[in-house]
Amino acid sequence: METLILVVVIAVVAIGLAGYFVVGSRRRSVTPPPTRTPVEPSVGEDAQPLPEAPSRTVDTLDLPETVEAPEAPAVPETVPETLPPLEVPEPTAGRLVRLRARLARSQTTLGKGLLALLAREHLDEDTWEEIEDTLLTADVGVQPTQELVERLRTRVKVLGTRTPADLRALLHEELLALVGTEYDRSLTTTKAADGSPGVLMVVGVNGTGKTTTTGKLARVLVADGHSVVLGAADTFRAAAADQLQTWGERVGARTVRGPEGGDPASVAFDAVKEGIAEGVDTVLIDTAGRLHTKTGLMDELGKVKRVVEKHGPVDEVLLVLDATTGQNGLVQARVFAEVVNITGIVLTKLDGTAKGGIVVAVQRELGVPVKLIGLGEGPDDLAPFEPSAFVDALIGD
Ligand code: GDP
Repeated sequence: METLILVVVIAVVAIGLAGYFVVGSRRRSVTPPPTRTPVEPSVGEDAQPLPEAPSRTVDTLDLPETVEAPEAPAVPETVPETLPPLEVPEPTAGRLVRLRARLARSQTTLGKGLLALLAREHLDEDTWEEIEDTLLTADVGVQPTQELVERLRTRVKVLGTRTPADLRALLHEELLALVGTEYDRSLTTTKAADGSPGVLMVVGVNGTGKTTTTGKLARVLVADGHSVVLGAADTFRAAAADQLQTWGERVGARTVRGPEGGDPASVAFDAVKEGIAEGVDTVLIDTAGRLHTKTGLMDELGKVKRVVEKHGPVDEVLLVLDATTGQNGLVQARVFAEVVNITGIVLTKLDGTAKGGIVVAVQRELGVPVKLIGLGEGPDDLAPFEPSAFVDALIGD
C-alpha cells in the first residue's frame, strides 16, 4: 500500500512539473521582441530619462597643459562682402577697330596674298589659279571663289593700269560684296511689346566657345545698358554652369541653373520664368551641344526651344562655330540648321586662323548672317560683325 501511495505521489509531482514547463515555454514564445532604444529621447510625461552618456572631460583627453580649448567663433554683426566688385564691360562700339590688329595679323594670307598676286605684272592663267587657291585655302568655298575670280578677271581687264591703290579699292569692293552688306546683322535683345524679355538661345557643338560666347554676350548687353538673366541649360558638360555663373557674376547677371545631368529644357524654361519675374531686358540661354547622334541633338534642342516658347517666342537662335574648323564647321552648321531655326552665326576664334573666308562660306550655306565674331579669350573679345571693318582687316594696311 505504501508503495502504491509513493507511486501516486511521484506521478502527481511529475505531471505538475511537466505542466509548468509547457506553459512556461508558451509564455516565452508570445513575448514581444525587445524594443529598440529610441534615437531621440521621448518627451512624453512618463518617459524614462535616458542614462547620461559619460561626459569626456579635458582631463580624460589628456591634453598638454599649453593647449587651450578653442573659443567659439564670434558671430559677425554684418555679413562680410564676399562678392567681387562688378566689372564695367568695355562699350561695344569700336571694339572691332581695337581688335583689328589681331585680325589683320592672322588674316594676311587672304587679303595681302590676293593683293600681291593681283599686282603681278603678268596676270597669266597660273596667277589666276593661285588666286583661286588662295581663296579656297581661306575657306571661302568653291562657288563664291569662282564668282569672285570671274569678277576680278573682268574688272582687272577694264582697269588697265593697276596701281596698288586701285587694286586695293577693287579688292575691297569685291570682298565686301562677297561678305554681303544687305544682311540685317542686328540682334533682337530687347523686351517685347508686352514687357517680356528678349530671349536668345546659344547653340553649337561643345568646344566651339558656346559658353564663353554666352558670357561675353552678357557683358556686351550689360555694356549697352541691358539687364540680363542667364540660363545654364548645358547641364551635360560638367562645369559649364559654374563657368557661366562666373561670367554672370562679374557683371551682376543672375544665372539660373539645374542639377548636373538634369533636364536642359526645364532649366531653360525656369530661366525665362525668372527673367519675366525680374522684368529683365534679355534672357540668354546656353545649351548643350552633344553631337553624338543627330537624332539625340534634334530631340534635345527642339525640346528646349519648344518648352521655352511656352513663355513666348525665342527672338534669336545663335549658332556658334569655331572658325578654325573649316569644312567641319559647315557640316555642323547644316545639322543645326535642320534642328532649329538659326537667326545668326557667331564665328569664334577668328584670332587663331588665317581662314576668314569661312564668313562667306557659312553665310552662303545657311542664308543667315554672321552677327558676332570672337577674336580672343579676353572677356571683351566679342565684337559685332561689321563687313567693311572686317574686309579692311583682311586686306591690311
Ligand atoms: P563650349 O564647350 O562650346 O561651351 O566651349 P567654351 O566656351 O568652354 O570654350 C572652349 C575654349 O575656346 C575656351 O578655352 C575658350 O576660352 C576658347 N574660346 C572661345 N572663344 C574664343 C575666341 O574667340 N578666341 C579664342 N582664341 N579662344 C576662344
